[in-house]
Amino acid sequence: MSQKIAIVTGASRGIGRAIAKNLAKNDYIVIANYNKSEKEALELKNEFNNIHIFKADVSKREEVKQLVEYTLNKYKKIDILVNNAGIDSQQLFQDITDEDWQNVINTNLYSAFCVTQEVLPNMLHNKNGCIINISSIWGLVGSSCESIYSISKAGIDAMTKSLAKELGPSNIRVNSIAPGFIDTDMNKKYSIDDINNIKHDIPLQKIGKPEDIAKCVKWLVEDEFTTGQVIAIDGGWQIH
Ligand code: NAP
Repeated sequence: MSQKIAIVTGASRGIGRAIAKNLAKNDYIVIANYNKSEKEALELKNEFNNIHIFKADVSKREEVKQLVEYTLNKYKKIDILVNNAGIDSQQLFQDITDEDWQNVINTNLYSAFCVTQEVLPNMLHNKNGCIINISSIWGLVGSSCESIYSISKAGIDAMTKSLAKELGPSNIRVNSIAPGFIDTDMNKKYSIDDINNIKHDIPLQKIGKPEDIAKCVKWLVEDEFTTGQVIAIDGGWQIH
């Protein structure tokens, strides 16, 4: 089959949803994973013939296996994996509980490890693949009161670079996109005043849209010579 098959985790809302839509509009077949937001996932499926939805908590190995099995039973191959599912968590470092730690690390980092491990046998067999991990600028520069989140994202970037080296000879490219402040439910907690202050600190004086990240995903999917990179899409917020 010449059409490319993409799994996008956490595709029911926000950035993952924009990524799934943009790939579908460009003729990719998308397996859009969701966990809790069934209504949003169904709306997405109804909008596109070439989007399938699959419920799985990607922090759980058994559910990840089912997601990958579903895709391979249907299409026999996986060309693209976007590890996007994630949650944030804000607290002082000394207030972090073991439960907070496990929740964020399992959802953000273990999930990327686990889904990647499950798709790799097929990509290695085909000597073809593109893996894109959605990290965060906080993984690059650290964030006060968001240490577990930043640790999880730095871990993803380290996985990206290590895997790019390990999998390059098998023609599998691995990159991270590190978004800055993007207008999604994740940032609903911020007031208009907070957002205006943030815009003031961003060189381009605006916050990002999920579509800004989706465009970069499409570019990385179609590129053939980029691997091991962490691409910050943040309006210049954290130039370093
Ligand atoms: P969002 O609007 O809160 O959406 C999060 C998505 O992740 C939802 O589709 C949710 O699915 C899914 N998800 C969460 N836990 C999951 C699990 N255990 N299994 C499967 N899916 C799960 O967040 P967003 O802003 O789009 O964030 C997407 C990614 O971008 C995250 O990795 C986030 O860390 C990263 N990011 C976001 C920003 C930003 O400013 N927004 C900045 C930097 C990085 P359900 O609702 O179906 O459970």
